[in-house]
Amino acid sequence: MGDLSGYGGDALKSLKEAGAAIGDVLEAKTPWGEVTGTLVPRYLYGDGDHLVLKLRSGYNVGLRVSGLKGVRVVAKGEKPSFSPPAPPKPAKGLPRVLIIGTGGTIASRIDYRTGAVGPAITAAELYSLVPELSGIAQVHPEIMFDIFSENITPKHWSRLARRVAKAVKEGFDGVVVAHGTDTLGYTAAALSFALAGVPVPVVLVGAQRSSDRPSSDSSLNLIAAVSVAGTARFSGVYVAMHLGESDDKIAFHRGTRVRKNHTSRRDAFVSVDVPLAAVWGRSGLEYVSEGLPARGGAFRPRPRFDGRAALIKFYPSMPAGAIRAARRAGAKALVIEGTGLGHVSKELTKELAAFVKAGGLACMTSQCIEGRVNLNVYDTGRDLIHAGVLPLDDMLSETALAKAMWVIGTGASGARARELMSANVAGETTPRTFPS
Ligand code: ASP
Repeated sequence: MGDLSGYGGDALKSLKEAGAAIGDVLEAKTPWGEVTGTLVPRYLYGDGDHLVLKLRSGYNVGLRVSGLKGVRVVAKGEKPSFSPPAPPKPAKGLPRVLIIGTGGTIASRIDYRTGAVGPAITAAELYSLVPELSGIAQVHPEIMFDIFSENITPKHWSRLARRVAKAVKEGFDGVVVAHGTDTLGYTAAALSFALAGVPVPVVLVGAQRSSDRPSSDSSLNLIAAVSVAGTARFSGVYVAMHLGESDDKIAFHRGTRVRKNHTSRRDAFVSVDVPLAAVWGRSGLEYVSEGLPARGGAFRPRPRFDGRAALIKFYPSMPAGAIRAARRAGAKALVIEGTGLGHVSKELTKELAAFVKAGGLACMTSQCIEGRVNLNVYDTGRDLIHAGVLPLDDMLSETALAKAMWVIGTGASGARARELMSANVAGETTPRTFPS
């Protein structure tokens, strides 16, 4: 029996009776005449009453099976499939760049079973689909995961960090990590801590539109990422995504200061309260910020993360039970995203004091995104300091969560954990520039 992906109910029954398979040309007898077209796969969640034919004009028509007087196969066809061109051969002497595939939209195309975008393109296919890469670097594609980034966990961060550290030993000139955009900021922050001092550029790259859409940003983002990973004079962990809506410039953001700030725009990513690290145009790097670390130098990766930390956004009327629930779930560290300068209600402050007393690491960031936490202005803040809550200055909440998981992953606890959490390990806090 041929493939009838996505079909069910009466539609499946009549297709089976006709001996049809996806890709066959069918003739359906409707009350108003015959319709001829190619049977296309159906969305998995579509109803079981319709079959869908692609007409010669390119339009798809859905035909209700109960209204048809018959269906017959006119010609057998091939199930439509995707076969990428063979990867081009890169020139010798170009820098060597490892591309690690993890999934996400950058490695996706439309899944005709569900009509949704799903991870489908392998890192190797991606390379063959962006032949420009062969003129930029000797690319070594490798798939580590094939998942959307909402499924990435600290365990994945550890594995990624270990792989990058190994790539450094293997002599790669740079590493590109292709990753979903939803949690790209978290992974960039996590790798910034685990790989602090990394002697090559490590560029995380994503896409807002899948590679098979005309508006896709994946090719240019990837070309810029590979080019910078292979040739930039600076090292460190960065995120590469569109600078603006037009398809010509790519922004490089510091891994600990970057945030996805728009659900769908190609230029969704912003650097918060810091200048961009670099800007790439079609002819190369157009701007490089001062103070980025040079390539080379000693490097000791610290790739372990402990996922027992939680990020909790305070809201008016939040019950103290929210903190107790996190404790019961085994949290060793809490990042509280407080209001304004870093505040929570009195009830929660008491609960946080109990958490700290029991050996937990409690830290405060702000929901304001820009500006700094300051617990010295209001009584609420002073009470939080008294409760043992650690203010995290202008650290982004997502970065703070990744850092807390890294800090407890190093095995640090008590005063040492607080000290490490407050230290500026990878540019996660910025020097005070304005009086607060
Ligand atoms: N949900 C997807 C992900 O983060 C979206 C994307 O890749 O942009 O994997």
